[in-house]
Amino acid sequence: MKKSIRHKGAKVRMCAACGLRARRDEHEFIRITLQKDGTLIFDSGDQCSGRSAYVCRQADCVKKLCKSRRLSHLLRGSVPEEVYQSLLKEAGLSE
Ligand SMILES: [Zn+2]
Repeated sequence: MKKSIRHKGAKVRMCAACGLRARRDEHEFIRITLQKDGTLIFDSGDQCSGRSAYVCRQADCVKKLCKSRRLSHLLRGSVPEEVYQSLLKEAGLSE
């Protein structure tokens, strides 16, 4: 099985919650990056380096990711509760 998806330049990302794969121009992801100094940032671009994970900009996926606590596993670092809260905020889910 070596028939991979053709990608024209853009990288294919995978949602850490639902496993959906899409290019950035096809689907909206939130990128979570653990920087070298230990701070976590959210963005939608590629401007900073570090270990990153992606999640769909959707309530279901962010909530699922928060529940599973998979993020700390993916980023190989501790992810405090506040990060999940701000992630929900980033997805526009907090009131
Ligand atoms: Zn998803």
